[in-house]
Amino acid sequence: MFGVEASINLKSEAEIALMREAGRINAETLNAIKAAIAPGVTTAELNEVAEAVQRSYGVYSPFKNYPGPYPFPASICTSINEEMVHGIPSNRKLREGDIISVDCGTVYEGFVGDSAFTVGVGDISPLAQSLIEVTKQALEVGIAEMVPGNHLGDIGAAIEEFVTKHGFYVTHLYTGHGVGREMHENPQVPNFGRRGEGILLREGMTLAIEPMVLVGTRHTRVLRNGWTVISQDRSLTAHQEHSVAITAHGPEILTKL
Ligand code: MG
Ligand code: MG
Repeated sequence: MFGVEASINLKSEAEIALMREAGRINAETLNAIKAAIAPGVTTAELNEVAEAVQRSYGVYSPFKNYPGPYPFPASICTSINEEMVHGIPSNRKLREGDIISVDCGTVYEGFVGDSAFTVGVGDISPLAQSLIEVTKQALEVGIAEMVPGNHLGDIGAAIEEFVTKHGFYVTHLYTGHGVGREMHENPQVPNFGRRGEGILLREGMTLAIEPMVLVGTRHTRVLRNGWTVISQDRSLTAHQEHSVAITAHGPEILTKL
């Protein structure tokens, strides 16, 4: 092994058990946030919900103070409508018809769980519903490729083929990633690729798979706040993410209840 392959941290059973608990707490946090989403609620209030759950477990989010243009100021990312990822919680109120993506991480006993979902606020358009459903299924399609002997490119190829078939776009600029003691470990996991290319997938790899899907373009830009990524044409976007272990028996989703 050399290069990227040598830099990938394979996890032991014991380490995966800790990641499973990090992922479980993260799922509980995301569920609490999901339950709080309603018209009139601010994204800062959703951040408070997350921090309350995390405090009750004595855990914290690796998002807080994550290095960037300036340290990320919150424990979750909240991205509304054309905002794809890295939206900053604020006193912006959710409105009926919005769609919101929430991304959250949990550090438990030194290991990270990283997961995200997109949901509608009240009644949403058929287009928004279809976008969310395709993004959810794209995550499943990507995870299904996570078996020993497949290649990294199989994951991205499956995701992009699925999304494109439904008339939407995946970003080529933002990717999934290895996850473990650090939120972002090697390798990067693009949402596009070629079957049979890239590193060989092996038992003990733990990857965050995260399709980011856009309605009108694959191109994005960053808002002046330095963090928030939006679709360049301001069309709707959605994001789904799980942290997943590759086991001898296939993929195991770690960020679930
Ligand atoms: Mg995430
Ligand atoms: Mg991630």
